[in-house]
Amino acid sequence: MSVVMKPTATRAQLDEVIRKIESSGLRADVSSGEFQTVIGVIGDEKRLDFDQVKLMPGVHDAIRIQVPYRLVSRSYIPKDVVVKVRGVSIGGNNPPVYMCGPCSVESYEQVHRIGKQVMEAGAHILRGGAYKPRTSVHSFQGLGLQGLEYLHQAGKDLGLPTVTEARSEADVEKVAKYADIIQIGARNMFNQDLIEAAARTGKPILFKRSFAAQVDEYLSFAERIVANKNRNILLCERGITPLGGSFKPQTRFSLDLNAVPVLRRETPFPVVADPSHGTGRRDLVPPMSRAAIAAGAHGLMIEVHDRPQEVLSDGAQALLPHQLKGIVDTCNRLYKTISESEVPFSSDIANGNGQG
Ligand code: PEP
Ligand code: MN
Repeated sequence: MSVVMKPTATRAQLDEVIRKIESSGLRADVSSGEFQTVIGVIGDEKRLDFDQVKLMPGVHDAIRIQVPYRLVSRSYIPKDVVVKVRGVSIGGNNPPVYMCGPCSVESYEQVHRIGKQVMEAGAHILRGGAYKPRTSVHSFQGLGLQGLEYLHQAGKDLGLPTVTEARSEADVEKVAKYADIIQIGARNMFNQDLIEAAARTGKPILFKRSFAAQVDEYLSFAERIVANKNRNILLCERGITPLGGSFKPQTRFSLDLNAVPVLRRETPFPVVADPSHGTGRRDLVPPMSRAAIAAGAHGLMIEVHDRPQEVLSDGAQALLPHQLKGIVDTCNRLYKTISESEVPFSSDIANGNGQG
């Protein structure tokens, strides 16, 4: 923390702030400029009441400098974490992993049929929503437990691990029982009870970034997963809200590909991107998939449907199975080229190890 004193602060007020810092067992490093004095606080900031310091006479502001997340940072876990899901390794130097399937599970027949097609196109993990987060109460809300059973059965029959969303704490136990990865959706990124309940199952968590969260906030909430002794985290960039005002967006969300190398630099966890929700448009899924892999994503989540005109949710962004094969092949080649090249990822550059 840094405490910035007002230009009008008296010596007695400064001494009082220093006394407060030192009596909390911390050290105060005072730097006096021409107009302002700033006190650097050194030590475990938890021992000092931040809000109380802000209200002390003569104090202009108290600014937390320490990052709000530690347990998910590379300073705590320096080496890349590889998350293993039934024989599929995600993260580190492993080639991209593709998690594909319909937006929603609609029937056993549907999820098995699409699952088979995505598997043949190169997908490693089958996705499908059973508890759907929907803006409108009038939209299809998902098949619930029945949907979980269909997804589980299709995954079992095809030999594919599965991922599906737990929309509330009440779903966590059932999702943990039936699926291999528990997804926390963008709308629930701030739901600390849900995050912690999911983390406590010990299962891998696909943790989606909210469309309204800064990376720091996102990682502070991811911190709760590690705080609950679960390091099986897949971070997922799925698009942020485009600018409002007079700017009319062409896309549903704006896939924030800056976040991919930033997350890779800041954290050791695998980072995946979701160009389906990130764009909301089928035609933009192929180029944004390529861009995400080029930016360093360890995998992609892509919605696929063979009958998009009949889809109960997100039809406009559903890719056709034959289009998926093209994306997977191109992205794999792209990954190979990048991993064989001298171009380092931003984590290397930030640490001074890069050659670029
Ligand atoms: C989904 O993946 O099915 C989903 C609803 O995604 P998001 O939470 O990113 O909107
Ligand atoms: Mn969807």
